[in-house]
Amino acid sequence: MTSISSDLVASRLTQTYGTGLSATHALADVDVTIPAGASVAVMGPSGSGKTTLLHCLAGILRPTAGSVTWRGTDLTTLSDARRTVLRREDFGFVFQSGQLLPELPAVENVALPLMLAGTPRRDACATAARWLDHLGLGGLQERRPGELSGGQAQRVAIARALVCAPGVVFADEPTGALDRATGHDMMRVLTESTHAAGATLVVVTHDPEIARWCSRTILMQDGRITTVAATR
Ligand code: ADP
Ligand code: MG
Repeated sequence: MTSISSDLVASRLTQTYGTGLSATHALADVDVTIPAGASVAVMGPSGSGKTTLLHCLAGILRPTAGSVTWRGTDLTTLSDARRTVLRREDFGFVFQSGQLLPELPAVENVALPLMLAGTPRRDACATAARWLDHLGLGGLQERRPGELSGGQAQRVAIARALVCAPGVVFADEPTGALDRATGHDMMRVLTESTHAAGATLVVVTHDPEIARWCSRTILMQDGRITTVAATR
């Protein structure tokens, strides 16, 4: 019997920005397997290639060389249009800040991915409202992002990332704009809700305490993975 793995597998991933003397080798021959359902913290100094790795794994960036395989498909060979659809259907994203549409209330920000996937507005908003309730934002559905605290806005972003039942959630320094206590609170919500949804989590972080909540840590240095460690 064959089965299509839901592991996310990068093989010989290379990303070079620019050419000649000004070339930057952001990723150099990186091999990594992210097992289905794992939570992975990506750590390393600034400029070590963490964001570039995340963007290649998520099909945001087509690498210079190498492959990224997800559910039997190599993302790097897909057309831009098919990659966009796959990203929308299978992946969720949480960034540091600024990812919510300022003119839409929280509930519509969360409903948007569902509506883009064809769910009627009413149903999409009902599902979005349940997610906001679930993440402790029940009373704030009609608030616009500018009327939310940083921590609340990041919870809305988590709800939006999870609303389409993604296979993988990618988060790039999601607590970077929050104070430490709010950041930890947000990460607890992110790890628990991603786990409960059965999704894989890949999170770039500078905070070793956050990394400890993940099932493994990847350490990067100069475009290479130097260490992969199970954290629990
Ligand atoms: P990190 O997220 O670990 O800080 P990045 O993946 O953002 O690292 O960057 C890795 C290297 O690639 C750095 O040297 C950075 O300056 C360079 N880099 C990143 N994005 C670009 C780009 N769009 N054009 C040129 N160089 C880039
Ligand atoms: Mg980065």
